[in-house]
Amino acid sequence: MKYISTKNKQEIVSFEEAVVKGLAKNKGLFMPETIPQLDSSFFETIEKKSNTEIAFEALYPYVKASIDKTAFKQILEEVLSFEFPVVRVNDNIYSLELYHGPTQAFKDVGARFMSRCLAHFIGKDKEVHILVATSGDTGSAVANGFYNVDGVQVHVLFPKGKVSPYQEYQMTSLGKNIHALEVDGVFDDCQDLVKQAFNDDELNQHLNLSSANSINIARLLPQMLYYFYAYRDLKKANKELVVSVPSGNFGNLTAGLIAKKMGLPIQQFIAANNDNDTFYQYYKTATYTPKASVQTYSNAMDVGAPSNFERMMHLYENDWENLKKDVVASVANNEETLAKMDSVHKESNYILDPHGAVGVIGLDQYLNSDQLGVVLETAHPRKFESVVQKVISSYPDNEVDLEGCQKLAMANSYVDFKNYLLGL
Ligand SMILES: *Cc1c(COP(=O)(O)O)cnc(C)c1O
Repeated sequence: MKYISTKNKQEIVSFEEAVVKGLAKNKGLFMPETIPQLDSSFFETIEKKSNTEIAFEALYPYVKASIDKTAFKQILEEVLSFEFPVVRVNDNIYSLELYHGPTQAFKDVGARFMSRCLAHFIGKDKEVHILVATSGDTGSAVANGFYNVDGVQVHVLFPKGKVSPYQEYQMTSLGKNIHALEVDGVFDDCQDLVKQAFNDDELNQHLNLSSANSINIARLLPQMLYYFYAYRDLKKANKELVVSVPSGNFGNLTAGLIAKKMGLPIQQFIAANNDNDTFYQYYKTATYTPKASVQTYSNAMDVGAPSNFERMMHLYENDWENLKKDVVASVANNEETLAKMDSVHKESNYILDPHGAVGVIGLDQYLNSDQLGVVLETAHPRKFESVVQKVISSYPDNEVDLEGCQKLAMANSYVDFKNYLLGL
């Protein structure tokens, strides 16, 4: 399998190069050159397969030119060491809980997979420094995913006072190869510092710098497994499946669409948006207009210019009609999100996080009575306890002890950041 750039089909690289480089030239994104097809026998016997067996069959075609079977099986065993339960919410709706990993959001799978692939490629003698700017969830997943991985040092930049205590704990409590830098600024300042570092020749001669940004194809591909697991667990109901995906940068949805193109029988996907409705507007009008993001209760979806839109367009050959055969879109504001969390809790005794609630609103709109709906529950409600407490006042606070955690305070200054990196 080769990978090509969404900006230029002539830029062809191996899986290894796509992972190590992260981004193609001219801000192109890497995509598999072709989508491998799974045999119908795979789906006929899927209910007998374990998570790692499914993962191996679905993902090995994408990596086999770069990683041998034994090493890849080992990577999958390590990455998939927790559960992905499908939990009944009501007669028509199931929740696929993607939050049973170490940082309690779905990004754990992608971060863990990418870290193991990268460690496999760089070998024992090199050292790579990963720089990552975060507004919260990505930094914790990347920190955790790369923790204790040989040959990789991670530097996480987060904005002072802008992440929750729990997120800060997840980034600062690990130590070892994980270095947390608390920047006196906002998320965009952290992002700028990282971008400047990547463009700094002197620094790049001194260190091997890399990014664990979600545009890396190794973070996206393993996310297709969620959809295979949901299908396996619900197959016996013998109904059409509709999956609602709470979306921000659209990595999760893109992975689902790739799974469908491999043959996975999912009838329809719902791109569930909050007030950041760039995709919803595209769905309605066929015109794509990125805009500045606005803050909502489902803040991991506060993205106004979704980075994976380009990958979806590539998959559907820039054809709006074609995309709409597989994907519909919904939108929900903060009040609707809270109302849905409240009604699902009262009627089904199930606690949704705000992102999952946006997803259920999409199902309400599109699901018909002979179909089965699945919502991807992308984070544990505990990660958003202050929002959950607005509807369930008895919901407990997430207590964390930041005592003993380590972070380096840093001014919002590129000179300081560069000196820190040159000093390594
Ligand atoms: C990252 C994230 C999302 C959005 O996922 P995309 O793949 O960027 O669309 C949704 N919910 C939670 C909790 C997240 O952390």
